[in-house]
Amino acid sequence: MAGRVVVTYHPLFDGRGFSPLAASWSRYRTSMDWMASLGIFDAADVECPSLAADADLLRSHSSAHLEVIRRGDANGRGTFATSDTPAWRGIMARARAAVGGTVHAVRLVASGEAAHVFNPAGGLHHAMRDQARGFCPFNDLAIAVDHLTSLGLPRVAIIDIDAHHGDGTQELLYDREVLKVSMHQYDGKYFPGSGSMAEVGWGDGFGLSINVPLPRRVGEAAYLDAFRAIVPTAVRAFAPDVLLVNFGVDGHFADRLSRLELGVKAYRAIAATCHSLAHETCDGRLIVTGSGGYNPDAVARCWSTMVATLTGALASPDDVLFPMLHDRMPAMHGHSILGQLSSAALWPLQFAGLPDVPPCPDPAAIEASRETVAAVVADVLPLRLTDIDRLGNEHAPARTANPWVTA
Ligand SMILES: [Zn+2]
Ligand SMILES: [Zn+2]
Repeated sequence: MAGRVVVTYHPLFDGRGFSPLAASWSRYRTSMDWMASLGIFDAADVECPSLAADADLLRSHSSAHLEVIRRGDANGRGTFATSDTPAWRGIMARARAAVGGTVHAVRLVASGEAAHVFNPAGGLHHAMRDQARGFCPFNDLAIAVDHLTSLGLPRVAIIDIDAHHGDGTQELLYDREVLKVSMHQYDGKYFPGSGSMAEVGWGDGFGLSINVPLPRRVGEAAYLDAFRAIVPTAVRAFAPDVLLVNFGVDGHFADRLSRLELGVKAYRAIAATCHSLAHETCDGRLIVTGSGGYNPDAVARCWSTMVATLTGALASPDDVLFPMLHDRMPAMHGHSILGQLSSAALWPLQFAGLPDVPPCPDPAAIEASRETVAAVVADVLPLRLTDIDRLGNEHAPARTANPWVTA
C-alpha cells in the first residue's frame, strides 16, 4: 500500500474533551499509547496540526455561531443550545485543534504528501451551521468537503459508521453532490432522532443521503451484511475524488451510549473495506476521523486496528490487534503473558476484563436481526443507486427547504 500514513495529534487532545463524560477524555492518549506499544508508528508519522483559523470555521458556520462558542469559552459555564454540550474555558482552542487536525489531513491528502490521514479528534458530525450539539462545536467533516472542493476535489464520499446519525453533516451537505452514507442505531427517538430512510437529500444532493437505520442490538453479522451490501456499491457508483470515513466506534459492545453490539473484528472488516475502496476508487485518498467512542479501551483497540490497516500491518482480513498484541508481548518482555497483562506500567490498558468479541447472541437472534436488516437494505439500495448514477435526477422533487430539519 504505497503512500504515507499520518496520524494528526495536538497536545490539547490530551486534555478535556467536548462531552461531559470525563472518563472518556483519555481515549486519545490511550489510543496513542496503544499504537506506540504495537509499533504502529514504525509505519505511520505523527504530525501536530495548526489550530484551525476563523476562515476554516467560516467555511461551514456563521460568524454568529463562532461568537456563541467564543462567549461559551469566555463564560466558562453552562451548555450550548441543546444542553448536551458543555461550555468551558478552553473549548475554542480545543475545537480549533480538532478541526485543525482535519484541515491538516485535507492539505496532506489533496497535495499527495500523504495517502491516508487519521485525525482521532475529528468527526464532529452533529454540529449544525448555527448550533453546537451532541458534543460537537464545529463540523470538521463539512469544513473538509468545502476545503477539498476549493482544492479541486469536490466529489467526496462520506462513510459515517458512528453509532449515531450524522445529522449535522447531512444538514450542511443535504443539497450538495456529496455522497453521505450513515449507518446508525435508529428508532425515531434515539439521539439525534433523525436518519430515517426517507431523508434522501434534495437538489444536487437528491439520492445522495443514504441513511441505514439499524435496530438496537443489531449485532456484527447483520451490521456487516448491511455495510457490505451498501457501502462498496454506493462508493463505486459515486466514484469519489476523496473518501472520508467517520470512524466513530461507539457501536462497540463495551460502549455505554449505544447498543449496536459490534466487536473489534467488525471494525477491522470496516477498516479493510474502506482502505481498499479508497485505493480502488480514488487513488488511495482517504481521510479518517475518530468521532464517537466513550470506552477508552474499546476506542484504543478499534482506532489502532484502523491505523494498522492503513499502514498494511494487518495483512490478512482475519487479523485483529489482539493476536498481534499477544505475538509481540513475549518477545518484548520474556515473561508470562498473564504477568505482563497485570503490569499497568508496561501496558496502558486493562483489557483483562474486556473480551475481544461481543458476547455471542443465540443463533435465532442473529438470524432475526439479519432478516430485519435485509429488509432495510432492500429498501435503501435500489432507489439511491439510480440517483447516484444520475439517471433519475430529473425526477427529484423540487424542494425549497431541507424537509427533515424540524427545529
Ligand atoms: Zn493504503
Ligand atoms: Zn456517536
